[in-house]
Amino acid sequence: MSRETVTKRCEIAILGAGPAGLGAAWELARQGRRDVIVVDRNTRPGGLARTEQQDGHRFDVGPHRFFTPNKEVDALWHEVLGADFRPVQRLTRIYYREKFFLYPVSALDALPKLGPVQAAWALASYAAAALTRDPARATTFEEWVSAQFGRKLYESFFKTYTEKVWGIPCNQIGAAWASQRIKGLDLWGVAKNAVGALARKPKTLADEFDYPTLGAGQMYERMAERATAAGHTFLMPAEVVGAELDGPCLRAVTLAGPGGRVRLEAGQFITTLPITRFLTLLSPPPADEAVRACSELYYRDHLTVNLVVGKTGLFPDQWIYVHAPEVQMARLANYLNFSPAMAGRPGTTPLSVEYFVFRKDPLWARPDGELVAFAVDELRRMKLLDPAAVEQGFVVRETDSYPTYYLGFEGAYAKVQAAMDGLQNVLPAGRGGMYKYNNMDHSLYSGLLAARNVLGAPGAPFDLWKINIDAEYHESASRGP
Ligand SMILES: Cc1cc2nc3c(=O)[nH]c(=O)nc-3n(C[C@H](O)[C@H](O)[C@H](O)COP(=O)(O)OP(=O)(O)OC[C@H]3O[C@@H](n4cnc5c(N)ncnc54)[C@H](O)[C@@H]3O)c2cc1C
Repeated sequence: MSRETVTKRCEIAILGAGPAGLGAAWELARQGRRDVIVVDRNTRPGGLARTEQQDGHRFDVGPHRFFTPNKEVDALWHEVLGADFRPVQRLTRIYYREKFFLYPVSALDALPKLGPVQAAWALASYAAAALTRDPARATTFEEWVSAQFGRKLYESFFKTYTEKVWGIPCNQIGAAWASQRIKGLDLWGVAKNAVGALARKPKTLADEFDYPTLGAGQMYERMAERATAAGHTFLMPAEVVGAELDGPCLRAVTLAGPGGRVRLEAGQFITTLPITRFLTLLSPPPADEAVRACSELYYRDHLTVNLVVGKTGLFPDQWIYVHAPEVQMARLANYLNFSPAMAGRPGTTPLSVEYFVFRKDPLWARPDGELVAFAVDELRRMKLLDPAAVEQGFVVRETDSYPTYYLGFEGAYAKVQAAMDGLQNVLPAGRGGMYKYNNMDHSLYSGLLAARNVLGAPGAPFDLWKINIDAEYHESASRGP
């Protein structure tokens, strides 16, 4: 241990200041617990949901919309931001074959744009799939979607984008993933409309979402301020680089930051670090089987090229899914269409271009200037941007963003869960922390429940692994009367 290592102690340590960590801090503060230290390797709170700034222009780490069927989380979000949390009318489309298709896909919009030949092909393959459909027998994403919607619609509206996001072929992604994520798409409407039935579009969460005036991160910055006011300490930036076990209990974590090393001792830990990273930091290490399982699970990494564009009115969408295989970008967000205050100056647009990558990919290592030029050139080829209008650009690289549900990951996952459950004073929470494809609401809620487990609150202990990630409600759930 080097000489400058200092020791700090607290009752409860929270590792990670994303929505999950801050959910835990919020609940502990609400219950009067002051002896809490929150650590994060970033300088800003919010994790994947933080908002980065450049000369007053604001960019999330990819577009973040807020909505949830969880009334408690919804009420909490409104309590935190009040008038700064406003509804936004959603418009998102798919870019494919140099055209824009409404998302969720609707027949009246999609079929004419596909053209008569492609539309007839889509309907024929849909009908063929309907005759033989047995999604229960599908084991892969590809089989499930093709069985549900037909091969042609699968290839047009699912395959390329999904493979951009996950970096593996759709026949290596499990069917459970598909049934969980895309149930809500209005593709039944494709067939119904085609035979003349009028599919009335219900009022859904897909039409509207809430958003903070100053970006998704404003929510979590405000939560961190409230926890600080309640007596919590935030150590940021401070990266957890080691974790010291004493039998089945975690005694301390080692933090590395600009001020040197800190040994942080606590009676109880809540960790939202990527679970495989956390377990491999343990000393002594977990059983060989658990270490092997950690190496078998992996996360997709994420890179945003953020551009300040010296004009407005680029396109009306909050974001566009880029299915076109001729460009590498997967999504494009226009933050001016989330909140005008995201622009640092009137007459400008904060635009972000997303690439899903692995750290070993050449794209990840390319210098920022090259990545900015690359993204701008893709936008030019898509006829969405005049490169001369770009005033500046910068890159945000985010590791471990998407826990990957590859075909057969469950065996390794069960071993990793068991290793975590074997630790007596550590509770996992959140997206990376539990290897779950959470949205913000799930993560925040897992933090609230982890805190309640620590406090022995009424109803505790809650089984944190069972927090629902039925994300299909994102496209289909009702927003109430
Ligand atoms: C591109 C993109 C778009 C998204 N869009 C939406 C959306 O529209 N709506 C929605 O609800 N959700 C969305 N999400 C999901 C949302 O961002 C996550 O669910 C949420 O941020 C997860 O919160 P968390 O606290 O569980 O994890 P994280 O946000 O990942 O927080 C974990 C924290 O741990 C810290 N950390 C990691 N390792 C260490 C270490 N060794 N030492 C110290 N600190 C460490 C990280 O810096 C981070 O702050 C999106 C995610 C992405 C990537």
